Amino acid sequence: MKELKGYSILYNPRKNKGTAFSKSERKKYGLDGILPDSIESMETQIMRVQGQIENLNKPINKYIYLTGLLDTNETLFFKTIISDPAKYLPLVYTPTVGEACERLGHIARRPRGLFISIKHKNKIEQILKNWPVEDIRFIVVTDGQRILGLGDLGINGIGIPIGKLALYTSCAGVPPEHTIPIVLDVGTDNAMYLNDPLYPGLKQKRVTGKEYDDFIKAFVKAITKVYPKICIQWEDFAGVNAIRILDKYRDKVCTFNDDIQGTAAIAVAGFIAVSRLLNKPFKEQRFLFLGAGAAAFGIADMLVKKFQRDGLNKKEAYERCWMFDVNGLLVNSRTDIAEHQKPFAHESEASNDFAASILKIKPTAIIGVSTVGGAFTQQVIENMSAINDRPVIFPYSNPTSHSECTAEQAYTWSNGNAIFASGSPFAPVEYNGKTFTPGQGNNVFIFPALGLAIYATEAKRVTDEMLLTASEAVAEQISEEDFSKGLIYPPIKNIRDVSINVAVKIVEEMQ
Ligand code: NAD
Repeated sequence: MKELKGYSILYNPRKNKGTAFSKSERKKYGLDGILPDSIESMETQIMRVQGQIENLNKPINKYIYLTGLLDTNETLFFKTIISDPAKYLPLVYTPTVGEACERLGHIARRPRGLFISIKHKNKIEQILKNWPVEDIRFIVVTDGQRILGLGDLGINGIGIPIGKLALYTSCAGVPPEHTIPIVLDVGTDNAMYLNDPLYPGLKQKRVTGKEYDDFIKAFVKAITKVYPKICIQWEDFAGVNAIRILDKYRDKVCTFNDDIQGTAAIAVAGFIAVSRLLNKPFKEQRFLFLGAGAAAFGIADMLVKKFQRDGLNKKEAYERCWMFDVNGLLVNSRTDIAEHQKPFAHESEASNDFAASILKIKPTAIIGVSTVGGAFTQQVIENMSAINDRPVIFPYSNPTSHSECTAEQAYTWSNGNAIFASGSPFAPVEYNGKTFTPGQGNNVFIFPALGLAIYATEAKRVTDEMLLTASEAVAEQISEEDFSKGLIYPPIKNIRDVSINVAVKIVEEMQ
């Protein structure tokens, strides 16, 4: 490739260093006079960026500014994010990225990533070859059907792969030149977008069934052919498609689904941390899920694997995981239980009363994945407190309005004894003169580290063992000081160190 010089290097986001080009680089690249004389450090540049962000009032405007920075000076963008992850991650990823996706057709500046539409089903290889880099190792791909809790956002969902990949680099140092954000355009059922002249995707209803599956198949075939070292991360597909696609490809190519496996891994990390906090072997925990859907199975499957790793046999492991769905407790006598639910149905009396089931089954932890806001009632928390000194309460349903209880309710109803972590964030709670910091199961502790381990080893598959090791490694990195504040996940400011350590553990597990 011809060496870039003068303005062309400043307009290349990967090469651009702005005012940080050294004296000799300025001479070499013909930048004397094109830049002001002063040679600035990265810290000075970050100071300027921070000042400009502070001057913007709305998170969405900060997002637009930061995206602009990503498009002009990648290194400065990533350095800024990691200079204060607690401040900047929420601006480049959740929650701000949700609004950014919703409005992408209106706020877009410059296209980023690849847009592969169903109309190009027979030209996917050609499209991939349009990308300027050959050695691609990592893609995050969505079809935009279930973006966060916002539903079908069509190709505006590209904001999610862009944001996730930004975290791979800023949190774990995965080189951005080896990654591509991709959106598959199979249409949208979002009526507002179909009538919006600024919606940039196909103006047609979603393709489904065989035509959809054939398109995914053609995509996987093309991408693994053009990029033989690729890892595919599926992101924000609708539940049924997510599970089917993962099941179909997980043993054939290097792939994982963060919504399913990353979520499970971070939830299990929380429970491993609980056993550290309580100084109690993990295998003595017993779980009762409210909800027996996709999220429950992802988490429960990984709990079973953790129990087995810790010495229980499969039967004993399943016996420590109970589920309660819209029709009550999963018991053997029920006739409406699907095949995949059967291992979690046990011998017991049928019950439609969740609070009463707690007294019977005596779980150490309850996990809410029911989508029913408020389902962890005062009676539920009080029953958990009656049988546990430190009841573990994990309402994981999103968004906040669907959370089975609030942090304040959990702490208040348990007289300050609950160990709490949720899917949606909750602010610290004051109770009886003490401040409680609620945990949030944030996948960001898992997927960037997993990505780094895969990148470093050129792994051929993503196994459950790798994910379970990631859970254990996250839980190991909570300090006694963190525990004393009520945390069961590491502070987000430590994300870079945590990610590197988790990646190292995953690689060791793979040996
Ligand atoms: P799902 O629709 O597959 O499952 C919902 C389950 O809740 C079903 O088993 C249903 O029977 C049960 N349920 C519904 N109403 C109930 C009631 N009144 N009492 C008891 N059970 C009831 O949904 P899902 O994908 O498993 O997600 C569940 C929640 O978990 C969502 O709010 C989601 O935000 C959250 N979550 C999902 C994921 C994920 O990857 N799927 C990850 C983290 C959190």
